[in-house]
Amino acid sequence: MIKTYKVKLLPNNKQRTKLFECASVARWAYNFALATQQESYKTCIAYKNFFEGRASFPRFKSKKKSKLSFYQDTISTGQKYKNINKTSKVKKLEKRQKRLQKRLSKKYELNKIQMNGGEYRYRKTNNIKKLEFLVLKMRRRLKNIRHNYINQITTSLVKAKPEYVVIENLNTCGMLKNKRLSKSIQEQLFYEFKRQMEYKCALNDIKFILADTFYPSSKTCSICGALKNKLSLSERTFICNECGYEIDRDLNASINLKNYGKSIA
Ligand SMILES: [Zn+2]
Repeated sequence: MIKTYKVKLLPNNKQRTKLFECASVARWAYNFALATQQESYKTCIAYKNFFEGRASFPRFKSKKKSKLSFYQDTISTGQKYKNINKTSKVKKLEKRQKRLQKRLSKKYELNKIQMNGGEYRYRKTNNIKKLEFLVLKMRRRLKNIRHNYINQITTSLVKAKPEYVVIENLNTCGMLKNKRLSKSIQEQLFYEFKRQMEYKCALNDIKFILADTFYPSSKTCSICGALKNKLSLSERTFICNECGYEIDRDLNASINLKNYGKSIA
């Protein structure tokens, strides 16, 4: 398998400034470390390893408003981005996107023109074009955040080094638990998850198994194998009619999928 990465950055002015700042901090840090090493070489003190070298950096952080404050700024923003609360951020963005879309459809309604034949035409004003661009941008941003999240999950799953991975095909009923997301987006996210899981398994020599679409993972008892006729989505706990076993619905389904994989692998 050939793996390639293609990255193209199109930074805006703000981001460009930030990138240059980061680059200059990196250059400064490199020169500083080099000078320290050369100094200790001259004075015959032993060569500092990475950790010792790094330890001499933080003292600059305390010097406020010094020439090195840009160093401090860059370091601290780098740390800030790590701690972004993702779920609240996504919720905020989703709300904003909804508001934008509402505004857009209102604007369209205002610019409706009735034609002679009775049908409607919509006039695209500059304002509408601007709004459409904003909606598009927001959609892309949300998509990036979600895909990034899926990337993290799939990577952590593969890193656990399982013998095999079983994925059930898209279960539309089960997927509709999240009402805030439209069906098409949920489907898109599911296929992205599946796609990433599949190639990451292939890269790591992990067997990837796709369960049969009609395999009743939720309706089967994971203890005795009895099959239920009906299990509504609101039933979050699985209770077996045969052996009386009680278990969380999703856990029961995943145990069944694990056994399904074992019988095939
Ligand atoms: Zn049972």
